[in-house]
Amino acid sequence: MLKYHNFDIVFQEIPDETTLAVNITGCPYRCPGCHSPHLREDTGEPLTQEALLSILERYGAGITCICLMGGDARPLEVQELAGWIKNSLEYRSAWYSGAEEIPEGVDPRNFDYIKIGPYVEAAGGLKSATTNQRLYRVGEDGSLTDITAKFLKQNKPMQ
Ligand code: SF4
Repeated sequence: MLKYHNFDIVFQEIPDETTLAVNITGCPYRCPGCHSPHLREDTGEPLTQEALLSILERYGAGITCICLMGGDARPLEVQELAGWIKNSLEYRSAWYSGAEEIPEGVDPRNFDYIKIGPYVEAAGGLKSATTNQRLYRVGEDGSLTDITAKFLKQNKPMQ
């Protein structure tokens, strides 16, 4: 079962969206320089549909997107929840995965956005020009458009 540590309303993780980001625990990776080592533990509250509805009831105003942060130990459960978010709740659904590529059995059409790639300290995160990570916008047919460059535009100083 997916479990989560906490959640937050964020504005930069998915460009042009107001996002409820839910931090999932039980991360199977051990990236050197990990920014969230507590998310490697198998702890937290069950991330069920009911739990998500309860969060949305309290904090859902203005939200356009729900991003599942992690969950790489259970990608099929992530896609099931994301599909429900997208098709039943009608929020845009996003996934921040640390995998090198979209795991086998995962259908991108359950998502509107997918971020792929482990955290590599020397390359930096999505806001770094040298990042190894990619953020994709998923088309209706499951096609992937790389929109990582939008993060660099966010970083540019106002002129
Ligand atoms: S994927 Fe994220 S939480 Fe997991 S080890 Fe890497 S940096 Fe840490």
